[in-house]
Formats: sequence, structure tokens, C-alpha cells
Amino acid sequence: MTSRPFNFSAGPAALPEEVLTQVAQEMLDWHGSGMSVMEMSHRGREFISIAEAAEADLRDLLQVPANFRILFMQGGGLGENAIVPMNLSRGGKVDVVVSGSWSKKSAQEARRYADVHIAATNASEGQRHIPAAAEWQLRPDAAYVHICSNETIDGLEFHELPDLKALGSDAPLVIDCSSHQLSRSIDWSRVGLAFGGAQKNIGPAGLTLVYVREDLLGHALPICPSAFDYKTVAEAQSMYNTPPTFGIYVAGLVFKWLKGFGYAGKTGLAAIEQRNIDKAQLLYAALDGSNLFENRVAASCRSRMNVPFYLRDERLNDAFLAGARERGLLQLKGHKSVGGMRASIYNAMPLEGVQALTAYLRDFEAQHG
Ligand SMILES: *Cc1c(COP(=O)(O)O)cnc(C)c1O
Repeated sequence: MTSRPFNFSAGPAALPEEVLTQVAQEMLDWHGSGMSVMEMSHRGREFISIAEAAEADLRDLLQVPANFRILFMQGGGLGENAIVPMNLSRGGKVDVVVSGSWSKKSAQEARRYADVHIAATNASEGQRHIPAAAEWQLRPDAAYVHICSNETIDGLEFHELPDLKALGSDAPLVIDCSSHQLSRSIDWSRVGLAFGGAQKNIGPAGLTLVYVREDLLGHALPICPSAFDYKTVAEAQSMYNTPPTFGIYVAGLVFKWLKGFGYAGKTGLAAIEQRNIDKAQLLYAALDGSNLFENRVAASCRSRMNVPFYLRDERLNDAFLAGARERGLLQLKGHKSVGGMRASIYNAMPLEGVQALTAYLRDFEAQHG
């Protein structure tokens, strides 16, 4: 294999090189069918076998219980910000925990369809902590509670999902897990619905994954487009309208790659989770040990996937990014709303990529510190 640069993009993001190579090999003729996957009918037996295997592998990897449906949809995370309230709010109350930029957007969009209440927010302290669940102001009659389980821009992650029952709420928990799905296991006993775009950690943009508990199907508002009614999509096995076929195919290859992944004596999701822990520890330790760079998130809430960091002297930003590109460390510029830098270290980022980044941090500091 040729050596490619390390790509720290927040999304669309790096994919495993093995998967890209396989896609290239199968591009003109998938398994002797004489067709590219892009050219196949979604109702033909070839594509149906691809979609069924993808769903089964995803269910297996994440141990998704039998009473959850997995939907392959379109519209992205932002689309789901409308699709979820249209399906679950019943026009009533929705509680949202605002822990950063993405949950704030979700709350704003849900206001078009429901009575939205901010159960907790960390806005006043600059997104350094996730508000403690014990302090959330949940309404007893909320149709659901929304959280963003990994705030991609701010770099905060829920390392444990809240147990709403223990907080006295019977409402289902909705999680926007766009930027860390499949990076770790999920406690489904605490979740009613999870959603996420594929382009952060799973595959190309255009595919959105929704995991929904069956009892939440069938309550869509009359204004909900049929193509976005979870019940309609579930009953049609995600083929009510043409699904993003190529995205499902690539995602399926990523699932196979993950199932065969080994690391530190573990396999599959446990192996990737362990590597993600090790990568994040290495990077945060380098930042914390530096006088030039800093991450500002409380240690207990730091994301394993998205690591924002700042140069204490911001005049060095451009030199830092130029030097990074020279070393083959790509797309480290922070989100425009928060500035600074951000290293997204999703599943496809090897340990060597993070080692190359921490070596660069040390060298840059030796030069400029
Ligand atoms: C990227 C992202 C979104 C938006 O996804 P789109 O696919 O661009 O609509 C929503 N939520 C989170 C947490 C994200 O990281």
C-alpha cells in the first residue's frame, strides 16, 4: 500500500484504506455482476444482499436489540433535527440538553414542531463540562429528551448515557451520535432512538443511520413527509424511496472491516474502542504536557473522537497548519465558530497518525515555545 497522509477532518472524514482499495477494485464490476454498485437497482437481488449484510453486521457490531429497527435514511443529522420531532413529539413537549453547538441547533429546529424546553445548558461556562444529569430540569410529560452524545465542534462526549428512569422520567432518550457512532458500545437500555450521519465515522456523506425502538414508530405528525416517517421507512425495509445505495455499500464494507479488526488482544467493536481510548489518551497527554497548546474541556467530558485545541499564541496558527500539511497531517483547522485547531481521530485513524501528530506538536513547540 502507498503511504497516504493522515487526515484529521471532522467530516466527511478518513475511511480505512483497505475499504477504499476494495471499493476501487469493485468499482466497475461488483462480484462478477458486470455492474458498479452505483448502477444497480436497489430492488435487485445484488443490492438487496448488500443492504441486508450491512444491516446485519451493524446490528451485530453494536448489539442492537431485536426491538430496535435500523433505518438507512437520507437528510443527515440536520435533517433528523426535524425528522425526530415530526415523528416523536406528537406536537407536545420536547426537553433538550444543550451541551454545545449541535444540541443547540437541534433545540432550535425542534421548536418548529414542538414545545421545546432547555433542560440544562453549559452555554454560560463556555462548553467545558456537560451539565450533570442530576441537575437537569426534565418535564414529566415530555415526549422525549434529546442529547448530543458527542459534540463534534466543542469536543465533549457523554462517556455514560444518562439513565432517565433513575432521574424520574419515562421519556425515551434521543441521542445524536453522528460523530461517535461505532466508536464504542451503546447501552441500548437507556436509548429510545439514536441517529447519525455516516460521514463522520462510517462512510460517505448521504447516508443517515437511525436506530429506533419499535414502540416509537407510528406517531408521525400529519405534516411529516412519507419518506421521513419512520414507520413507512421501517415497513419498506428502508426502501420506501431509493436509499443512498453507494453509501450503504461502503458502510457495509466498513462494518466488515470493523468486525475483523483486531487490537490489543481484542476484536471488533471492543478492539476499535480500545484503540480509540489509546489514541485519545496519547493526544490529550501531549496537549496537557505542553506550554504552547491547550485543550479546554474538563477531563471527564473530553471527546475521544474530536479534540479541539488552541495555540496559546494564536499568531502561530498559520505556521502550525502549514507545517502540519508539509508533514502530511491534513485538515487540522478548527471549526470556524470556535477557531483554533481540531484533530478528529475517528475509527479509521491509525495509532500511527496520532503518534505523528504528537511528534509534530513536540517539534513545533521546541521551535516556537
Ligand atoms: C456533523 C453533525 C451533524 C450534521 O450532520 P449533517 O449530515 O451535515 O446534517 C449533526 N450532529 C452532529 C453531532 C454532527 O457531528
